[in-house]
Amino acid sequence: MSQGIVINSLSFARETGSLQGDLPIASLTRIQDKLVDSAGCLSYRVVGGVGSRNRPQLMLQLDGVLSVCCQRCLEGIDYPLEVRSLLEFVDDEDDLTQEEIEDDSRDFLPAQGEIDIVALIEDEIILNLPSAPRHESCALPETVQGTGKISPFSMLKDVRVKAE
Ligand SMILES: [Zn+2]
Repeated sequence: MSQGIVINSLSFARETGSLQGDLPIASLTRIQDKLVDSAGCLSYRVVGGVGSRNRPQLMLQLDGVLSVCCQRCLEGIDYPLEVRSLLEFVDDEDDLTQEEIEDDSRDFLPAQGEIDIVALIEDEIILNLPSAPRHESCALPETVQGTGKISPFSMLKDVRVKAE
């Protein structure tokens, strides 16, 4: 389980609360299977506010570098994470106008009292990570063009050596 940071979203928004700090990447349990390395920290900032129709809002800011797994060579890729999200809580999704649904500057969530900021941060990271990250060019022999003499078996051997 992640260590939670629980706030009451309604009073936090009304009182324009703010929270910031650093979270060890290793503590974000729900994203570990997408990472090659969980060293380091992410910095976060959450600011409360009230939106246009008196709805509670949270502005969420995340910065850090995540080591995601290249889908071709399985080595790490440093992925700079930079999230700026505006989350607005609605009592009833049917209240949303078409214009609001199409508004990309905000995301709508069902209204809830207590929310766990760490869970929210994990959700945002999962939404923002590339689904199939790849190096622009991997350091595998197969990317060497022109020789045409590399057998698939020698490539496999190289992968094994790398993995050890
Ligand atoms: Zn790669």
